[in-house]
Amino acid sequence: MKKDIRSFSEEQLCDFFIKSGHKSFRGQQVYEWLWKKSAYSFNDMTNLSKDLRLMLEANFVINHIEVDKFQQSSDGTIKNAVKLFDDFTVESVLIPTDDRTTACVSSQVGCSLDCNFCATSKLRRMRNLNPDEIYDQVVTINNQSLKYFNRSLSNIVFMGMGEPLMNYNNLIRSIEKISSDKGLNMSQKRIVVSTSGIPKMIKKLADENLKVNLALSLHSAIEETRNKIMPFSTKFSLEDIKESLLYWYSKTKRKTTFEYIVWKGINDTIDDVNALVSYCISVPSKVNLIEYNSIGDENFKSASQNNINLYKDILEKNKITVTIRRSRGKDIDAACGQLANK
Ligand code: SAH
Repeated sequence: MKKDIRSFSEEQLCDFFIKSGHKSFRGQQVYEWLWKKSAYSFNDMTNLSKDLRLMLEANFVINHIEVDKFQQSSDGTIKNAVKLFDDFTVESVLIPTDDRTTACVSSQVGCSLDCNFCATSKLRRMRNLNPDEIYDQVVTINNQSLKYFNRSLSNIVFMGMGEPLMNYNNLIRSIEKISSDKGLNMSQKRIVVSTSGIPKMIKKLADENLKVNLALSLHSAIEETRNKIMPFSTKFSLEDIKESLLYWYSKTKRKTTFEYIVWKGINDTIDDVNALVSYCISVPSKVNLIEYNSIGDENFKSASQNNINLYKDILEKNKITVTIRRSRGKDIDAACGQLANK
């Protein structure tokens, strides 16, 4: 089996060239083709001799993603089903607003978590995405942003399929590539890593010295309720999550954004609001109330506008920053929680 050349660091490539009797700088050239220029074929590497290109071809492959299906919503949102080298499919979404273009990227094929309200949880986790597969989604969406909206990608959210903190090393390597001047050169401040809350990994991320932002899918600050709708969370208590978020803040000085859906009969009472308020007071944070996108489960129905406004009012009274996020791309199943390779 030939090796995926993009699993090599620049140093390893330089080493490879030296060991095979060539100049070390060839490694830098190839690295630039692979990342900065996103070359998908050795033949494109025009500053290498034909012989060198053939030698690389004989030793390596360049695995790359392919947009298998392209859908555009009436609101401009684009959903890509992207095919990986081994025929698995994940989805990535481009979300345009007046002043920004956001890429929502996947980190795993399927998901091993079991959030009852999320369509992706119905797909078994098949494997982690490699750093280049995450990177390629971003490059693809950047190109689409230039083509359809005449501007570069401005933001990246790890809110597609999968749990990014369960594919930790590849997540970090993809972020490094996205933000490196040898890659896409995008600011880490424009990246949001969203997690369902794995305390040990949140602390690890805090120690990385990256500039990325953290979002946590909270959905309830009452342990019993949260465990019911996100059963895996019985392993991670709200107290442990809180402790990890305090650590995150002490290291990064950045607030965590709590993602929160309000459902009828699940978390729409005053007790639920009060629990969220106390949780927010104990952790430097803000709240993003996100619209529920139905996945056809009778148990989950969006709360009334009144009850959602109640959340907003009480949070604001307690000086907690709260935004209400409208969903986009619903008509093509591209909105939060709807990614299920449909
Ligand atoms: N596993 C990570 C990354 C996925 S992000 C995480 O849980 O954060 C996907 C976001 O969409 C999460 O905040 C998730 O809670 C939310 N979501 C899932 N299903 C949804 C649905 N049906 N409607 C709206 N948001 C949903």
